[in-house]
Amino acid sequence: MLITITLSCILGKEHKLKLELSQIIPQIHANLHNSWQKDLREVITEPEKLLLMLNIEPKDYLQHFKARQLFPVRVPLPFIKRMIKGDINDPLLKQVMPLNQEFIISEGFSHDPLQEHNSKVEGLLHKYKNRALMIVKPGCAINCRYCFRRHFPYQENSPNKTQWQHALAYIADHKEISEVIFSGGDPLMASDEHLTWLIAQIEKISHVNRLRIHTRMPVVIPNRITPALVELLTTTSLKATIVLHINHGNEIDSDFINALEPLRVARIPLFNQSVLLKHINDNAETLITLSEKMYDIGIIPYYLHLFDTVQGAAHFNIDEKRAVNIAKEMMASLPGFLMPKLVREIAGKANKTPINLA
Ligand code: SF4
Repeated sequence: MLITITLSCILGKEHKLKLELSQIIPQIHANLHNSWQKDLREVITEPEKLLLMLNIEPKDYLQHFKARQLFPVRVPLPFIKRMIKGDINDPLLKQVMPLNQEFIISEGFSHDPLQEHNSKVEGLLHKYKNRALMIVKPGCAINCRYCFRRHFPYQENSPNKTQWQHALAYIADHKEISEVIFSGGDPLMASDEHLTWLIAQIEKISHVNRLRIHTRMPVVIPNRITPALVELLTTTSLKATIVLHINHGNEIDSDFINALEPLRVARIPLFNQSVLLKHINDNAETLITLSEKMYDIGIIPYYLHLFDTVQGAAHFNIDEKRAVNIAKEMMASLPGFLMPKLVREIAGKANKTPINLA
Protein backbone atom coordinates (compact mmCIF):
# COMPACT_ATOMS: atom_id res chain seq x y z
CA MET A 1 0.00 0.00 0.00
CA LEU A 2 1.36 3.42 -1.01
CA ILE A 3 0.77 6.40 1.30
CA THR A 4 1.47 10.09 0.64
CA ILE A 5 3.00 12.39 3.26
CA THR A 6 2.95 16.16 2.72
CA LEU A 7 5.91 18.06 4.16
CA SER A 8 6.26 21.84 4.38
CA CYS A 9 9.82 23.01 3.84
CA ILE A 10 11.26 26.22 5.32
CA LEU A 11 10.51 28.15 2.11
CA GLY A 12 6.86 27.26 2.52
CA LYS A 13 6.80 24.90 -0.45
CA GLU A 14 5.00 21.66 -0.03
CA HIS A 15 6.65 18.38 -0.98
CA LYS A 16 4.81 15.16 -1.39
CA LEU A 17 6.61 12.02 -0.25
CA LYS A 18 5.30 8.70 -1.41
CA LEU A 19 6.25 5.80 0.83
CA GLU A 20 5.28 2.18 0.92
CA LEU A 21 3.43 1.49 4.16
CA SER A 22 5.50 -1.70 4.36
CA GLN A 23 8.60 0.53 4.67
CA ILE A 24 7.18 2.49 7.61
CA ILE A 25 5.63 -0.28 9.71
CA PRO A 26 8.93 -2.13 10.38
CA GLN A 27 10.53 1.15 11.50
CA ILE A 28 7.66 1.84 13.92
CA HIS A 29 7.99 -1.70 15.21
CA ALA A 30 11.75 -1.32 15.60
CA ASN A 31 11.28 1.84 17.65
CA LEU A 32 8.69 0.20 19.87
CA HIS A 33 10.92 -2.81 20.32
CA ASN A 34 13.81 -0.61 21.34
CA SER A 35 11.89 1.43 23.88
CA TRP A 36 13.26 1.49 27.39
CA GLN A 37 9.78 0.98 28.79
CA LYS A 38 9.68 -2.37 27.03
CA ASP A 39 13.05 -3.27 28.57
CA LEU A 40 11.61 -2.32 31.95
CA ARG A 41 8.52 -4.48 31.47
CA GLU A 42 10.74 -7.42 30.59
CA VAL A 43 13.03 -7.35 33.66
CA ILE A 44 13.62 -10.80 35.13
CA THR A 45 12.22 -11.20 38.63
CA GLU A 46 12.56 -14.97 39.08
CA PRO A 47 16.01 -16.23 40.13
CA GLU A 48 15.22 -19.62 38.56
CA LYS A 49 14.61 -17.98 35.21
CA LEU A 50 17.75 -15.89 35.52
CA LEU A 51 19.91 -18.96 36.12
CA LEU A 52 18.26 -20.93 33.33
CA MET A 53 19.00 -18.08 30.91
CA LEU A 54 22.65 -18.44 31.92
CA ASN A 55 22.67 -22.22 31.49
CA ILE A 56 23.06 -22.71 35.24
CA GLU A 57 21.02 -25.43 36.94
CA PRO A 58 18.63 -23.66 39.39
CA LYS A 59 18.06 -26.67 41.63
CA ASP A 60 21.62 -26.36 42.96
CA TYR A 61 20.79 -22.88 44.32
CA LEU A 62 17.18 -23.22 45.56
CA GLN A 63 18.17 -22.50 49.17
CA HIS A 64 19.16 -18.97 48.15
CA PHE A 65 16.00 -17.97 46.34
CA LYS A 66 13.98 -17.14 49.45
CA ALA A 67 16.22 -14.08 50.01
CA ARG A 68 14.09 -12.38 47.37
CA GLN A 69 11.51 -11.89 50.17
CA LEU A 70 13.99 -9.47 51.75
CA PHE A 71 14.61 -7.53 48.54
CA PRO A 72 12.95 -8.43 45.24
CA VAL A 73 14.98 -9.65 42.30
CA ARG A 74 15.01 -7.32 39.29
CA VAL A 75 17.46 -7.75 36.42
CA PRO A 76 17.06 -6.18 32.96
CA LEU A 77 17.81 -8.31 29.91
CA PRO A 78 20.58 -6.01 28.52
CA PHE A 79 22.48 -6.55 31.80
CA ILE A 80 21.97 -10.33 31.68
CA LYS A 81 23.30 -10.34 28.12
CA ARG A 82 26.72 -9.28 29.46
CA MET A 83 26.96 -12.13 32.00
CA ILE A 84 29.16 -15.13 31.26
CA LYS A 85 27.04 -18.20 30.56
CA GLY A 86 27.50 -21.12 32.93
CA ASP A 87 29.46 -19.08 35.51
CA ILE A 88 27.76 -18.76 38.91
CA ASN A 89 30.68 -16.51 39.95
CA ASP A 90 30.15 -14.07 37.13
CA PRO A 91 30.80 -10.58 38.61
CA LEU A 92 27.56 -9.17 37.19
CA LEU A 93 25.44 -12.10 38.32
CA LYS A 94 26.87 -11.81 41.83
CA GLN A 95 25.56 -8.24 42.05
CA VAL A 96 21.95 -9.37 41.57
CA MET A 97 21.77 -12.98 42.76
CA PRO A 98 19.86 -13.40 46.07
CA LEU A 99 21.81 -15.39 48.66
CA ASN A 100 20.78 -16.93 51.97
CA GLN A 101 23.58 -14.92 53.67
CA GLU A 102 21.16 -11.98 53.41
CA PHE A 103 19.27 -13.43 56.40
CA ILE A 104 22.33 -13.13 58.67
CA ILE A 105 22.02 -10.27 61.16
CA SER A 106 25.45 -8.64 61.31
CA GLU A 107 26.66 -6.55 64.19
CA GLY A 108 27.38 -2.94 63.26
CA PHE A 109 25.15 -3.12 60.19
CA SER A 110 21.77 -1.35 60.01
CA HIS A 111 18.69 -0.90 57.87
CA ASP A 112 19.53 2.76 57.39
CA PRO A 113 23.35 3.09 57.45
CA LEU A 114 23.25 6.69 56.21
CA GLN A 115 20.29 7.72 58.38
CA GLU A 116 18.15 8.84 55.50
CA HIS A 117 14.81 7.40 56.49
CA ASN A 118 13.51 10.42 58.37
CA SER A 119 13.50 13.09 55.74
CA LYS A 120 11.69 16.28 56.86
CA VAL A 121 10.30 16.98 53.40
CA GLU A 122 8.86 14.10 51.44
CA GLY A 123 11.12 13.07 48.57
CA LEU A 124 13.93 15.45 49.53
CA LEU A 125 17.18 14.83 51.43
CA HIS A 126 19.21 17.89 52.39
CA LYS A 127 22.35 16.11 53.60
CA TYR A 128 24.98 18.47 52.22
CA LYS A 129 24.96 22.23 52.72
CA ASN A 130 24.66 23.50 49.14
CA ARG A 131 23.25 20.34 47.55
CA ALA A 132 19.80 18.84 47.90
CA LEU A 133 18.94 15.35 46.78
CA MET A 134 15.52 14.70 45.29
CA ILE A 135 14.14 11.19 45.20
CA VAL A 136 12.65 11.60 41.76
CA LYS A 137 11.38 8.08 41.41
CA PRO A 138 11.23 5.22 43.87
CA GLY A 139 12.72 1.93 42.74
CA CYS A 140 15.21 0.98 40.06
CA ALA A 141 15.37 -1.04 36.88
CA ILE A 142 17.84 -3.35 38.63
CA ASN A 143 17.97 -4.37 42.27
CA CYS A 144 21.60 -4.54 43.38
CA ARG A 145 21.79 -6.82 46.40
CA TYR A 146 24.40 -4.57 48.09
CA CYS A 147 22.27 -1.42 47.80
CA PHE A 148 22.41 0.79 50.91
CA ARG A 149 18.83 1.83 50.15
CA ARG A 150 17.49 -1.73 50.00
CA HIS A 151 15.35 -1.02 53.08
CA PHE A 152 14.42 2.55 52.14
CA PRO A 153 10.68 3.21 52.58
CA TYR A 154 10.06 4.26 49.00
CA GLN A 155 6.28 4.05 49.43
CA GLU A 156 6.49 6.95 51.88
CA ASN A 157 8.88 8.84 49.63
CA SER A 158 7.29 8.71 46.20
CA PRO A 159 5.82 12.17 45.84
CA ASN A 160 3.36 13.23 43.18
CA LYS A 161 3.37 16.61 41.48
CA THR A 162 1.51 18.32 44.34
CA GLN A 163 3.97 16.97 46.90
CA TRP A 164 6.84 18.07 44.67
CA GLN A 165 5.73 21.62 45.30
CA HIS A 166 6.77 21.21 48.96
CA ALA A 167 10.21 19.95 47.97
CA LEU A 168 10.59 22.74 45.41
CA ALA A 169 9.40 25.33 47.94
CA TYR A 170 12.02 24.02 50.40
CA ILE A 171 14.76 24.42 47.78
CA ALA A 172 13.48 27.91 46.90
CA ASP A 173 13.57 28.87 50.60
CA HIS A 174 17.15 27.62 51.07
CA LYS A 175 19.32 30.02 49.13
CA GLU A 176 22.44 28.04 50.01
CA ILE A 177 21.30 25.22 47.66
CA SER A 178 23.07 25.71 44.34
CA GLU A 179 22.88 22.13 43.10
CA VAL A 180 20.01 19.68 42.90
CA ILE A 181 20.85 15.99 42.68
CA PHE A 182 18.28 13.69 41.11
CA SER A 183 18.46 10.35 42.85
CA GLY A 184 16.18 7.47 43.66
CA GLY A 185 15.74 4.67 43.31
CA ASP A 186 16.84 5.71 39.89
CA PRO A 187 15.71 9.12 38.62
CA LEU A 188 15.79 7.94 35.01
CA MET A 189 12.91 5.60 35.86
CA ALA A 190 10.87 8.79 35.47
CA SER A 191 9.54 9.57 32.01
CA ASP A 192 11.09 12.31 29.88
CA GLU A 193 7.84 14.30 30.31
CA HIS A 194 8.08 14.07 34.10
CA LEU A 195 11.75 15.10 34.06
CA THR A 196 10.99 17.99 31.70
CA TRP A 197 8.37 19.32 34.09
CA LEU A 198 10.59 18.94 37.14
CA ILE A 199 13.61 20.55 35.52
CA ALA A 200 11.46 23.46 34.35
CA GLN A 201 10.38 24.06 37.97
CA ILE A 202 13.98 23.97 39.21
CA GLU A 203 15.09 26.37 36.48
CA LYS A 204 12.74 28.94 38.02
CA ILE A 205 14.75 28.90 41.28
CA SER A 206 17.46 31.44 40.58
CA HIS A 207 20.05 30.24 43.14
CA VAL A 208 20.12 26.69 41.67
CA ASN A 209 22.50 26.47 38.74
CA ARG A 210 23.61 22.85 38.64
CA LEU A 211 21.73 19.60 38.10
CA ARG A 212 23.32 16.26 38.81
CA ILE A 213 21.71 12.96 37.87
CA HIS A 214 22.83 9.84 39.71
CA THR A 215 21.76 6.88 37.65
CA ARG A 216 22.48 3.28 36.78
CA MET A 217 19.74 3.13 34.12
CA PRO A 218 21.93 3.87 31.06
CA VAL A 219 24.22 1.03 32.13
CA VAL A 220 21.51 -1.58 32.66
CA ILE A 221 19.01 -0.31 30.03
CA PRO A 222 20.99 1.63 27.40
CA ASN A 223 17.77 2.49 25.51
CA ARG A 224 17.01 4.94 28.33
CA ILE A 225 19.26 7.50 26.63
CA THR A 226 16.48 8.81 24.40
CA PRO A 227 16.84 11.76 21.99
CA ALA A 228 14.32 13.63 24.19
CA LEU A 229 16.48 13.11 27.27
CA VAL A 230 19.62 14.31 25.49
CA GLU A 231 17.74 17.34 24.21
CA LEU A 232 16.44 18.12 27.70
CA LEU A 233 19.90 17.95 29.26
CA THR A 234 21.50 20.07 26.57
CA THR A 235 18.85 22.79 26.46
CA THR A 236 18.24 23.29 30.17
CA SER A 237 19.68 26.47 31.64
CA LEU A 238 21.10 24.32 34.46
CA LYS A 239 24.56 22.85 34.06
CA ALA A 240 23.77 19.14 33.81
CA THR A 241 26.10 16.34 34.88
CA ILE A 242 25.52 12.59 34.94
CA VAL A 243 27.08 10.31 37.54
CA LEU A 244 26.86 6.69 36.48
CA HIS A 245 27.27 3.60 38.61
CA ILE A 246 29.48 0.87 37.11
CA ASN A 247 31.36 -1.62 39.26
CA HIS A 248 33.04 -3.90 36.75
CA GLY A 249 34.45 -3.57 33.23
CA ASN A 250 32.14 -6.35 31.97
CA GLU A 251 29.21 -3.96 32.46
CA ILE A 252 30.49 -1.95 29.49
CA ASP A 253 29.40 -3.39 26.15
CA SER A 254 28.80 -2.00 22.66
CA ASP A 255 25.09 -1.28 23.33
CA PHE A 256 26.01 0.88 26.30
CA ILE A 257 28.87 2.58 24.44
CA ASN A 258 26.61 3.41 21.48
CA ALA A 259 23.81 4.68 23.71
CA LEU A 260 26.23 6.99 25.50
CA GLU A 261 27.50 8.55 22.29
CA PRO A 262 24.89 11.39 22.04
CA LEU A 263 25.71 12.46 25.61
CA ARG A 264 29.42 12.54 24.78
CA VAL A 265 28.76 14.51 21.61
CA ALA A 266 26.59 16.92 23.62
CA ARG A 267 29.49 17.29 26.10
CA ILE A 268 27.44 16.36 29.12
CA PRO A 269 30.05 15.61 31.81
CA LEU A 270 30.02 11.91 32.66
CA PHE A 271 31.41 10.57 35.92
CA ASN A 272 31.26 7.21 37.61
CA GLN A 273 31.06 5.92 41.12
CA SER A 274 31.75 2.31 42.00
CA VAL A 275 31.27 0.36 45.19
CA LEU A 276 34.08 -1.88 46.38
CA LEU A 277 32.46 -5.33 46.54
CA LYS A 278 33.94 -8.57 47.83
CA HIS A 279 34.50 -11.20 45.12
CA ILE A 280 33.24 -8.78 42.45
CA ASN A 281 35.79 -6.02 42.04
CA ASP A 282 38.02 -6.27 45.14
CA ASN A 283 41.31 -6.35 43.30
CA ALA A 284 43.40 -3.68 41.64
CA GLU A 285 43.52 -5.34 38.24
CA THR A 286 39.71 -5.36 37.85
CA LEU A 287 39.41 -1.74 38.92
CA ILE A 288 42.30 -0.57 36.73
CA THR A 289 40.63 -2.23 33.72
CA LEU A 290 37.36 -0.53 34.67
CA SER A 291 38.99 2.94 34.89
CA GLU A 292 40.71 2.48 31.53
CA LYS A 293 37.59 1.18 29.79
CA MET A 294 35.56 4.08 31.13
CA TYR A 295 38.10 6.66 30.05
CA ASP A 296 38.03 5.23 26.51
CA ILE A 297 34.34 6.09 26.32
CA GLY A 298 34.47 9.47 28.03
CA ILE A 299 33.58 8.58 31.61
CA ILE A 300 35.78 9.90 34.40
CA PRO A 301 36.21 7.65 37.48
CA TYR A 302 35.00 9.75 40.38
CA TYR A 303 34.44 7.78 43.59
CA LEU A 304 35.30 4.32 44.81
CA HIS A 305 33.02 3.81 47.79
CA LEU A 306 33.76 1.67 50.76
CA PHE A 307 30.76 -0.52 51.32
CA ASP A 308 27.91 1.10 53.27
CA THR A 309 27.07 -1.17 56.19
CA VAL A 310 23.53 -2.10 55.26
CA GLN A 311 21.93 -5.05 57.02
CA GLY A 312 21.57 -8.12 54.81
CA ALA A 313 24.56 -7.41 52.60
CA ALA A 314 27.55 -7.84 54.94
CA HIS A 315 28.94 -10.58 52.68
CA PHE A 316 29.93 -7.86 50.17
CA ASN A 317 32.03 -5.98 52.72
CA ILE A 318 35.82 -5.82 52.76
CA ASP A 319 37.80 -4.16 55.53
CA GLU A 320 39.31 -0.72 55.14
CA LYS A 321 42.92 -1.91 55.32
CA ARG A 322 42.40 -4.17 52.33
CA ALA A 323 40.61 -1.39 50.45
CA VAL A 324 43.57 0.93 51.07
CA ASN A 325 45.99 -1.69 49.71
CA ILE A 326 43.88 -2.11 46.57
CA ALA A 327 43.74 1.67 46.08
CA LYS A 328 47.52 1.98 46.51
CA GLU A 329 48.09 -0.70 43.92
CA MET A 330 45.75 1.12 41.54
CA MET A 331 47.58 4.40 42.11
CA ALA A 332 50.85 2.79 41.13
CA SER A 333 49.44 1.88 37.72
CA LEU A 334 47.00 4.64 36.84
CA PRO A 335 47.49 8.30 35.95
CA GLY A 336 45.95 10.53 38.62
CA PHE A 337 42.95 11.49 36.49
CA LEU A 338 41.89 7.83 36.22
CA MET A 339 42.17 7.17 39.93
CA PRO A 340 38.79 7.35 41.70
CA LYS A 341 38.80 8.81 45.21
CA LEU A 342 38.45 6.15 47.87
CA VAL A 343 35.72 7.43 50.20
CA ARG A 344 33.37 6.41 52.94
CA GLU A 345 30.01 7.99 53.56
CA ILE A 346 29.40 8.65 57.24
CA ALA A 347 25.89 9.52 58.35
CA GLY A 348 25.56 13.16 59.38
CA LYS A 349 28.88 14.30 57.85
CA ALA A 350 28.75 17.34 55.57
CA ASN A 351 30.62 15.51 52.81
CA LYS A 352 32.04 12.13 51.92
CA THR A 353 35.08 11.19 53.98
CA PRO A 354 38.24 10.57 51.93
CA ILE A 355 40.25 7.56 53.09
CA ASN A 356 43.87 8.31 53.86
CA LEU A 357 46.13 6.30 51.55
CA ALA A 358 49.41 7.43 53.13
S1 SF4 B 1 20.74 1.05 40.96
FE1 SF4 B 1 21.63 2.12 42.72
S2 SF4 B 1 19.86 2.72 43.99
FE2 SF4 B 1 19.17 1.12 42.53
S3 SF4 B 1 19.38 -0.83 43.62
FE3 SF4 B 1 21.28 -0.51 42.45
S4 SF4 B 1 22.63 0.52 43.90
FE4 SF4 B 1 20.57 0.72 44.72
